[in-house]
Amino acid sequence: MEFGARVRIRVAGKKELEDRYAANLSAGGIFIRDDRPPAVGSKVLIEFVLPDGSALCRIEGKVVRAKPADVAGEKTAGMGVEFMQLDEFARQLAAYRTPPKEASETKVIEELTDAAQADEVVGIDLGTTNSCIALVHNGSPQIIASMSGFDTLPSVVFVGDKGKDKKVLTGHKAVERMILEPARAIYGAKRFIGRPFVSREVRTFGHFFHYELAEGQNGFTAVKIDGEVYPLEWVGACILAHLKQIAKKTLGRDIKKAVITVPAYFGETQRAAVRHAGKLAGLDVQRLISEPTAAAVAFGFGRALDKTILVYDLGGGTFDASILKIHGDRMEVLATDGDAFLGGSDFDDRVTELLFANIERSNGVDYRKDPVTVQRVRFAAELAKKQLSEAKIAMIDVPYIGQGTDGPINLNTTLEVELFESLTEDLVTRTLQIVENTLKMAGLKSSQIDEVVLVGGQSRSPIIGRRLAERFGKKPSRGVHPDHAVALGAAIVGAAAFGQAASKVSLDLTDILPAAIRVAQGGEAKAVLERGKPLPAEATFDIETSAGKTKEFVASLYRGDASKPEENELLGQVKLPSTIALALTKTKATLTLKVSEDGLMSVTLKHPLTDEVQTLSVALKEGTPAPIDMVSDADLIVEG
Ligand code: AMP
Repeated sequence: MEFGARVRIRVAGKKELEDRYAANLSAGGIFIRDDRPPAVGSKVLIEFVLPDGSALCRIEGKVVRAKPADVAGEKTAGMGVEFMQLDEFARQLAAYRTPPKEASETKVIEELTDAAQADEVVGIDLGTTNSCIALVHNGSPQIIASMSGFDTLPSVVFVGDKGKDKKVLTGHKAVERMILEPARAIYGAKRFIGRPFVSREVRTFGHFFHYELAEGQNGFTAVKIDGEVYPLEWVGACILAHLKQIAKKTLGRDIKKAVITVPAYFGETQRAAVRHAGKLAGLDVQRLISEPTAAAVAFGFGRALDKTILVYDLGGGTFDASILKIHGDRMEVLATDGDAFLGGSDFDDRVTELLFANIERSNGVDYRKDPVTVQRVRFAAELAKKQLSEAKIAMIDVPYIGQGTDGPINLNTTLEVELFESLTEDLVTRTLQIVENTLKMAGLKSSQIDEVVLVGGQSRSPIIGRRLAERFGKKPSRGVHPDHAVALGAAIVGAAAFGQAASKVSLDLTDILPAAIRVAQGGEAKAVLERGKPLPAEATFDIETSAGKTKEFVASLYRGDASKPEENELLGQVKLPSTIALALTKTKATLTLKVSEDGLMSVTLKHPLTDEVQTLSVALKEGTPAPIDMVSDADLIVEG
């Protein structure tokens, strides 16, 4: 091919090329300074070369703007080159994108604060997509932003190549790498944390993820990269450790104590796993609270309200609905329901599939199996979805998806809000069904809800506000920042309950059991603690040896609302030896079940004669699962 110009750009190595030019590659062009640029329309060959002269990558482009110098060395003289063909290396780099910095309405701690407070407790929203950390500062809850100004951290962990230089990246840096090596980037880990690998959820949803899921040491779900197994508690710990570091850099001191939030519908094992992740990250977890409860605390804080509210919390991966009664500092959860597999990423999936179908129709190529392209198109889909929260139409532009017969294949299209809403309407309907169920459990009519509070990034989609307004006859409130409310609420709970006497924050909070705890007896799962019971809760239950020949007292514990044992989640089993004589006299052993205010369960079974006691605690034992690597500052590449 005839080139009007050949340009060689020298870089020290791959890293410099990435750091300095990835943004150009994403944008699809570059400006090259030249006193005598070739004419518009000329073909240009750009080579990035190493100091030894060998080429790292080649790009072919065409001049779209040319300005010769009036005076030698003039800065603005040169050519604007639009890229036409990228080699594979350049194509992958083009996938880079800089995460947008979102505007923040909440007060943010950005400066170093001095007064060290030994009793301070941070609030942490460990989200499916984004995480956030907050602190009550001078009586006012504030988000702790990173030194680079980000107020949330993507919940993504990237595990680098094996070897001694192996790096674990977290947050924004992990997101950047995700597009290049999706199988190494662990995102959405919260969907599976604390869930047995054999569970229905993992079987149903596991294959949607680009990384490989595996069974961890204790039967819980883990991720496998390069043959190594990384427990999801470790993944959670990496994110928590990064947040801890953000706090350290911003505040200028170490923080130790935290209140961490979990979806309201999280079960005992999932809660235990989050607690364990906190411990691995070096945090002293004071309490776990439900996300919608935390959001309600942030909503009601300092406002002397007397209201019944519904918190509609639609995040990246989970949906929760909770109804709370707020009376000044007193907050009581009346009912809660949710779906751990319903969130913003499902909305992204719908748009992504539409885009792939379009690409296939126009170019005859199916890129659904190319992980790099899937990641790029998903990002574009998510961006379009967000644009549609403010505009009627979104522009979608993903350059260089691949090489077609007539040149590069670009994705260049638009998405109208009507189409987006029809693609995702059933997801919104599912959230509303959960809202109905929550109302029913609270024994309330929609007219008895004073305010509907929107939380979670996905609740920004206008269709959500419209559908809720139709149902409740009033516009829902956007009175709390959807990305910050949960962390702020957790910080308020931390300040009120654990130290920080000087914070002057007071709060009386009662949460409830989100699902019943049952014991299987004679083929039926009987509720020992009913759903909706205020926490902490305690109950006892008598266990008989079943048939005369049985020499054991056995209690299988389940979590759920079904009367058939197999339709619930098995939490574990406690056993005690019995004797036939005891069985014949039908002597009973007493089972005591306690659920802490965190929603963590402990069980004891006491022998009627010997006083021998068996316990079952869902809390994961220390060192189980063993972290592959202790999370340390050195492992983390932190923004700022
Ligand atoms: P969260 O888990 O609360 O951080 O929510 C993250 C989810 O909110 C992701 O699926 C985002 O794509 C989605 N999201 C964030 N901003 C918007 C927006 N402006 N419109 C629609 N969805 C959004």
